Amino acid sequence: MIEKRARCPYDLELGKRHYFHRHVVLNNKPIITFIETTNYCNLSCPMCPRKMMARKVGFMEFDLFKRVIKKIKGNTASVWLHLYGEPLLHPELGRFINFCSANKIKPAISTNATVLDADKSRMLLDSSLNRIILCIDGINKETYSKVRAGGDFDTTKRNILNFLQLAKKRNRKDLNVAVQIIKTKDTLQEIDAFEREWHAAGANVIIEDFCSWGNQINIILKTCAPEKLWWSYRNGSNRYPCIKLWTEGGVLWNGDFAVCCMDFNGKIIAGNLSKESLKDIWNSPAMVNLRKEHIENKYTNSLCKNCAEYENEIRHTLSFARINSSVSSVIWQRVNYYIKHPSEIPAMLRGKLKIFL
Ligand code: SF4
Repeated sequence: MIEKRARCPYDLELGKRHYFHRHVVLNNKPIITFIETTNYCNLSCPMCPRKMMARKVGFMEFDLFKRVIKKIKGNTASVWLHLYGEPLLHPELGRFINFCSANKIKPAISTNATVLDADKSRMLLDSSLNRIILCIDGINKETYSKVRAGGDFDTTKRNILNFLQLAKKRNRKDLNVAVQIIKTKDTLQEIDAFEREWHAAGANVIIEDFCSWGNQINIILKTCAPEKLWWSYRNGSNRYPCIKLWTEGGVLWNGDFAVCCMDFNGKIIAGNLSKESLKDIWNSPAMVNLRKEHIENKYTNSLCKNCAEYENEIRHTLSFARINSSVSSVIWQRVNYYIKHPSEIPAMLRGKLKIFL
């Protein structure tokens, strides 16, 4: 394990470089992918681990948000303003959104759209929101009520259609609007019809893969997962470290720095951004030990132990996501093998892989 420091002007690139060198003390700062404005939610969806969440429920205060944004400014290009809660329930969401863009960070939200009435639609369209995902899982009441428990299909659909209409009228070319369905046992048969219907309504469509939440909760896997999963399970020596621990993190509503968005309970908190600097948190004992654990293939923490999501993470981070996932998996296994056995790299690839080694 090398504890030497490298230099690079770009934090993400530097993070990747640290990752491939298996450094544990890093010179980059993490990209902040989410800030949890609230962990209150008005629904109780079976595929969401929120009902198992034991941490306190609350709303982020604007003063704390300002401090967080000042600390991540210059290092984070865009940020999701939600995690385990419905962002539209935050009474100051518009203020948060505008503060992000005033600091050159593109704000985005994903919402269940159940409370997206005319006032909230206007508030969002008047703000500098850059991206919005509207979640309506199902093409009819029956499916929707199974997946989005507590929501009303007709109200949600009407809210989304009205929002799309208003966004079109306002001609907000800078705002990316998409309607999303998650692949679960209940929605799988409806994916094609969903895509056709919402394309016809003029929306971009996202078909989201089922998330295992790091395989922490068996009940979600049993009741919601489609039969065929996109990931494969690897054990010990077959796994590779999760690149998230070298490149990104997120902030919970109380300012806690969470190492991963799978951590719904805040099991691994590396520090608090209201008191500590991002740089100190990034090289805190919690982060350094976690990286060591991953490098040594000793997954003792209960968050990462059975997780398969790291495969997805590395593909996204290394921009393999655009090619077929089985091809990217083969490529990645090869790269990983060469990292461990550099002497076996074929001569013709040596120059190309130099950046990683
Ligand atoms: S291994 Fe899984 S739970 Fe651990 S940091 Fe990576 S994605 Fe998160």
